[in-house]
Amino acid sequence: MIQPRDDLALMEGYHSPQVDVPVRLNTNEAPEPPPPGFEDALVAALRSIAWHRYPDRSYRALREAIAAAHDVAPEQVFVANGSNEVLQTLCLTYGGPGRSVAVFEPTYALHSHIARITSTGVAVGERREDLSLDLDEVRRVLAEAEPAITFLCSPNNPTGMVEDEATVREVLDLVPGLLVVDEAYGQFAPWSALELVGDDVPLVVTRTYSKTWSMAAARLGYLVGPRELVAHLDQVVLPYHLDAVKQAAGRIALQFEDAMRARVATLVEERGRLVAALRELPVDVFPSGANFVLFRPRGRDGRAVWEHLLARGVLVRDCSSWPRLADCLRVTIGTRDEDDAFLAALEDALR
Ligand SMILES: *Cc1c(COP(=O)(O)O)cnc(C)c1O
Repeated sequence: MIQPRDDLALMEGYHSPQVDVPVRLNTNEAPEPPPPGFEDALVAALRSIAWHRYPDRSYRALREAIAAAHDVAPEQVFVANGSNEVLQTLCLTYGGPGRSVAVFEPTYALHSHIARITSTGVAVGERREDLSLDLDEVRRVLAEAEPAITFLCSPNNPTGMVEDEATVREVLDLVPGLLVVDEAYGQFAPWSALELVGDDVPLVVTRTYSKTWSMAAARLGYLVGPRELVAHLDQVVLPYHLDAVKQAAGRIALQFEDAMRARVATLVEERGRLVAALRELPVDVFPSGANFVLFRPRGRDGRAVWEHLLARGVLVRDCSSWPRLADCLRVTIGTRDEDDAFLAALEDALR
């Protein structure tokens, strides 16, 4: 049988087990489907699709709707099949053989994974013991590797920690190429790097419909960045990569922005409740500006706690074997009932 490229041989796939249990708090999705009205509006839009024709290649209406939501020009918006495809298009455009990206671990595993898939080198910097970003380390890695792309993730997955404005500005001053701030959880954080985007600034901010917008099933993500960069990406991405259904779904979702804001507020409040409850238990809790919380049961085997939770029908993300995150687990903020089920199971596990 034909073998894949040599450089794929050492690569590991991306795994997030999908287990069928009553309480699924492992992939940071929204706990509820989109608001009532979304489906009806989408079904109505489906009736007007010209199925025998290719969709609008430059997805004008969707682009304009996203641009309006962020008060930027449509030419500053690039949309793809999930923000992962946005990241992939960035690596295909600015990475490749002989180029590299910089990441600061622990962070979102897909940044380095997608870089490797596109034959881009990966320069790895380390965060501090408390998992915060170390600017001296950033300076060292950027000077050594001169990466084409530097990735930050804020709030960072899996730690939940938010980079403040001064930090992002400082990194932006340091990067020799492009700075990508992955804001998959941006709506849950107190500020956004979207404020810093401009046509003369080597910065893009990526967002997704998979978390806040309750639309992980739709596979939609986007970035906001300089016009010239967006034109480069349009050149690289496959023609007609966004189908007509997706374009309609993304545009219609934005009509329910008020409902989404209300849900974000509810989840932020619920996060406060969950963190307060966790602090009463023998676990170390990392500060979170996202819709999930990373914690480490004190003096316990993380994997054993994860298994105990699973046996009680609660699935969280097992990070216990990831480098730098020994014994850590990550729980997504769910509904009040789901979070109560998680807390009860965890108390039981730690008894
Ligand atoms: C969930 C997540 C994404 C989302 O990817 P999609 O492809 O849009 O579903 C991107 N970045 C981070 C850090 C995430 O956690």
